Amino acid sequence: MATAETFSCLVVRRNETDEVTAAPESKTIDDLPGGEVLIKVEYSSLNYKDALACQAHPGVASDLPHVPGIDAAGVVAKSADPDFKPGDAVLVTGYDLGTSHWGGYSRYIRVPASWVVLMPTSLNARDAMIYGTAGFTAAQCVAAVEHHGIQPGEGEVLVTGASGGVGSLSVAMLAKLGYTVVAATGKTHQHDMLTKLGAAKIIGREQVNNSSDRPLLRAGWSAAVDTVGGNTLSTVLRSTQHRGCIAACGLAGGHDLPLTVYPFILRGVTLAGIDSAKCPRGSRLKIWEHLAKQWRIDYPQDAVHEIELADVPVRANEMLAGKTSGRTLVKLSRHKDA
Ligand code: NDP
Repeated sequence: MATAETFSCLVVRRNETDEVTAAPESKTIDDLPGGEVLIKVEYSSLNYKDALACQAHPGVASDLPHVPGIDAAGVVAKSADPDFKPGDAVLVTGYDLGTSHWGGYSRYIRVPASWVVLMPTSLNARDAMIYGTAGFTAAQCVAAVEHHGIQPGEGEVLVTGASGGVGSLSVAMLAKLGYTVVAATGKTHQHDMLTKLGAAKIIGREQVNNSSDRPLLRAGWSAAVDTVGGNTLSTVLRSTQHRGCIAACGLAGGHDLPLTVYPFILRGVTLAGIDSAKCPRGSRLKIWEHLAKQWRIDYPQDAVHEIELADVPVRANEMLAGKTSGRTLVKLSRHKDA
């Protein structure tokens, strides 16, 4: 590969008038940061964190210029690590990818070998990015519910933000495992999709946003996956059954948590925190095995939106405005190779 030739990536910059811009640019391999493994990226995906990075949100990507993209799947082009060889199909999600490190919205990335996961044999790059960080997070939430000993048949399991990436994949995985899933959504036009994914019941988002200051509410859920945070998470915790478990991973509705300790000390509710980026490698490999095998889902193709680099900024704005649903894939293989 001639290093002087160019490839495309999405670069977020701040211009002279302090305005944040995001647009495709041409780069060379020599522009990439250090790392043992050079990967030719086929697909990335759009997650809520990527949408924030496209706007240079200081909690996600403060150093500009920046290439976002917390997910990438493709093929090893060059490796200085014996565990990977050119031609290996691989994926990377999380760590510092797309936050403080050059991310997956780029035809090439170079990353530490410790971030790279060999693609499970039953998945291709597109399948892996339909999951991406969203699916990886959903799987960790499901694992938390299972680990807590909640069995299918013990009651309804709630998923909030159900039409989003993490939400929709959680609905599908839980349903596949036999749980009775209640999907809470703000989008009436997504009801059919949620039913197709396996939701047994669909409720309005406002039904899990109780603004009273009652420390406990009628106990409904045996477990929940919460992607919304704020008063929604507070409502879910206050309305979970004795010994239930809530996997909390998101803040699409807010980062505060107005609550008393009563759900914990009177109902023995467990709040399981989920973080994806720094998930240890051993657990990470196990989760990907589960995603490829026993938790594998057939995600409906009409819930997958495929876009190109130049489309990312608009789609990211739509996501932050709560107007997207399902999974958005960013296809890199149409872009110029080095
Ligand atoms: P999406 O934008 O795809 O999904 C978020 C969903 O939340 C929306 O589709 C919508 O669902 C709901 N929502 C949006 N705005 C609001 C609001 N104001 N009030 C209530 N509900 C709202 O994002 P992702 O699935 O990628 O991420 C979901 C959350 O999980 C984000 O906060 C993200 O930061 C977090 N996350 C955390 C990870 C971790 O490691 N902890 C990893 C990945 C994601 P609906 O219309 O159906 O109600």
